[in-house]
Amino acid sequence: MSERTLVLVKPDGVSRGLVGEVIARIERKGLSLAALELRTVERSVAEQHYAEHAEKGFFGDLLDFITGGPLVAIVVEGPRAISAFRQLAGGTDPVDKATPGTIRGDFGLEVQFNLVHGSDSTESAEREIKIWFPNL
Ligand code: UDP
Repeated sequence: MSERTLVLVKPDGVSRGLVGEVIARIERKGLSLAALELRTVERSVAEQHYAEHAEKGFFGDLLDFITGGPLVAIVVEGPRAISAFRQLAGGTDPVDKATPGTIRGDFGLEVQFNLVHGSDSTESAEREIKIWFPNL
């Protein structure tokens, strides 16, 4: 059964020229792209996307970062797409949690600048896809 997940190549991934690398890994895994767009987001969109972190100390910095430059939003599709992309991404902290071989483990150093986002559940995926691609 096919599943959809929302992936972001965050502004650090775009500015470091890692969009192709991320897409290549998604495709090599066997997942496919259902929608893709380069865009710079308004703060209100970033606030909705990261609503669950509104009370966290890092929320303001996270919003500055996510709205600070263009990012690539992608709807990725395939069997177990949500956990499959989380596996490709690696843990949130690129050094302490993500292992080598994952996107964050291979290319990241700092928790905030961890290059990619992937939905963490079917509920999050549905909610996030509506935010980023309301017409899909
Ligand atoms: N983040 C941060 N500081 C922290 C924890 C998280 O800046 O201490 C950022 C980081 O970019 C992360 C995002 O907030 O990807 C969302 O955090 P979450 O715990 O949902 O991690 P993810 O699902 O992205 O692995």
